[in-house]
Amino acid sequence: MKALEDKIRAQGIVKAGNVLKVDCFLNHQLDVSLFREMGKEWRRLFADRPINKILTIEASGIAIACLAAEAFGDCPVVFAKKAQSVNVDGDIYSVKIESFTHKRVYDVFVSQKYLGPGDHVLIIDDFLANGMALEGLTEIVRMSGATLEGIGVAIEKAYQGGGDMIRSKGIKVESLARIASMNDETGEIEFL
Ligand code: 5GP
Repeated sequence: MKALEDKIRAQGIVKAGNVLKVDCFLNHQLDVSLFREMGKEWRRLFADRPINKILTIEASGIAIACLAAEAFGDCPVVFAKKAQSVNVDGDIYSVKIESFTHKRVYDVFVSQKYLGPGDHVLIIDDFLANGMALEGLTEIVRMSGATLEGIGVAIEKAYQGGGDMIRSKGIKVESLARIASMNDETGEIEFL
């Protein structure tokens, strides 16, 4: 998606440690009109899928998921919550996810009330790096008995391999900007 790539080129900052900082439009300040266009693009890419629910993870997934939901007929958005630890006896689906940016393991959970066998789910997230976050969300969908229709990602760091890993399981993944490489010394970002 050209508008997203242009925005990343203009405002993204490549940090040491393989982190792209996009706080000014995606992770802190939010560019809602860009999110609306991203939502329409995912709608176009998943037009053949009977999506009735969007699943994301707090915090940065929530805003883009809401604008995507608008494009999918205002379907409900469910976000997985992060906790230090959860009581797995409760009525929740829970998985452990290792955070790429914070280098720690979170328990992540969704209430069983909000996801079940009748749901056709599109997972949305801001970044795809090693794929741990999205793999955890696909596991939650599997536990719930819902149908996973696909995954929409804003920015995929394609060289990290998470996208390949998830696609190799037969899951449709649509990333709106796919980064081939980035250099923290020159600030250069190349897209696929
Ligand atoms: P993964 O589980 O795919 O390795 O990482 C995905 C999660 O890590 C995303 O939800 C995002 O929050 C965070 N993340 C991974 N790489 C980056 C990055 O380069 N920049 C930012 N801002 N977040 C990232």
